[in-house]
Amino acid sequence: MSSFLMQQDSTSAIASAVQLLSARRLIVKIGSALIADADTGEIRGPWLETLIEDVVRFVARGQQVIIVTSGAVAVGSRRFVQLDRRPETGEKQAAAAIGQVQLMHAYEQSLKRRGFGVGQLLLTGEDIDNQHRCLNARSTLQQLLKVGAVPIVNENDATATVEICFGDNDRLAARVAHMVDADVLILLSNVDGLFTEDPHDNPFARLVTEVRCINPEIEAMAGHSAARHSSGGMVTKLMAARIAMDAGCEMVIANGNKSYPLAAIENGGPSTWFIPFKDKASRDACANSLSQN
Ligand code: GLU
Repeated sequence: MSSFLMQQDSTSAIASAVQLLSARRLIVKIGSALIADADTGEIRGPWLETLIEDVVRFVARGQQVIIVTSGAVAVGSRRFVQLDRRPETGEKQAAAAIGQVQLMHAYEQSLKRRGFGVGQLLLTGEDIDNQHRCLNARSTLQQLLKVGAVPIVNENDATATVEICFGDNDRLAARVAHMVDADVLILLSNVDGLFTEDPHDNPFARLVTEVRCINPEIEAMAGHSAARHSSGGMVTKLMAARIAMDAGCEMVIANGNKSYPLAAIENGGPSTWFIPFKDKASRDACANSLSQN
């Protein structure tokens, strides 16, 4: 196993707490499998309350939090036609349009109960590629943070066809992190993090707690998620990690399924941290290890 990765040890709990505590600006990405019940497609209200309590706790101690949430398609599909086949893109877009309203309503109500407003941004990759639109989005996010409203971002599924097919919210979240110079990107998913092998196939698969270089060894560990409401899987999470690391932003993948998912990371729950290069020497060491493969 290469020196660029670590497995769970006693220091990781303290490190996770320090990394989260010292972040000035955080992006929290919520996967569909967390926000929507896998069987009914209903929003998991009690779980959402605990997530928002965590978010509010971060804000109360002076940190800025931007939420990137999936789930519109999963939630909207429930109200849509009962299909006995995979929905087509147009049907998914209609489901997203329905589900997005319910999703925002749930976030808004939960934050309102705690005295916070929300602001919604629906973005596509093209919005971020376009310098003018990207600057506008950044300015909107900064203004929302300034007035104490919690920004909530999702893909604009109604206009984006590539994103909705590939489950791109992981990458979108990383690009938002880059856009606003976030310190930490938290990807809450239904997996504990990156494993040496697929833990469903191999009970001896080990959790990797820290990655400092995404090399072929790491890429080989990323399997494909089969979760019903999770379109991204570990492959898009690694893509997101590359974007975040290049932007100097730390990224953590953790299982958000339990209550108070952010507190769980702080308390040293299972997770995989991706640490950006601190200096040119570590960047070169990673590049060298890639060229040797
Ligand atoms: N934007 C889609 C939704 O809200 C999900 C895409 C993804 O999970 O990355 O359902």
